[in-house]
Amino acid sequence: MKQVWSPWRMKYIMHHEPSPECIFCKAQQLDDGPENLIVARGHFTFVILNRYPYTSGHLMVVPYAHQPTLDRLTVEARREIVEIITTAEVVLQEVYHPDGFNIGANIGSAAGAGVAGHLHFHVVPRWSGDTNFMSTLADTRVLPEALEQTFCRLKAAWPKN
Ligand SMILES: [Zn+2]
Repeated sequence: MKQVWSPWRMKYIMHHEPSPECIFCKAQQLDDGPENLIVARGHFTFVILNRYPYTSGHLMVVPYAHQPTLDRLTVEARREIVEIITTAEVVLQEVYHPDGFNIGANIGSAAGAGVAGHLHFHVVPRWSGDTNFMSTLADTRVLPEALEQTFCRLKAAWPKN
């Protein structure tokens, strides 16, 4: 990652370079579909299904820029993250009728981030007693719906620009 000192703003401006080992950097370079699981794209962020979902419809909202923290993003990217999380909430409500949501980010591996170098927000629909209908078998969560089906349902429901 290159950094350029910008004296008039007294802060670093980041030049966003993809990281070859990063799943989010790789996914955004592929064509959108059931392969890369990208449901929608904004100007600064994209929406991708979690390949290992906690519940059906578990989405992640991810900036294109490979940056670990919110303060490394532009104001525009941060604003778009909130707007896209809001759309995710609306679309998931419409498609899955959950009783609630867990929405948030784990920043840093100490906080539990699986991909610590690339900030991402989880949007997880929740149902009252949803731990009951998911069975756990050798650390593999058994979900009531296949990923490809989730992808098609959310892609169809996502508002077109
Ligand atoms: Zn990345």
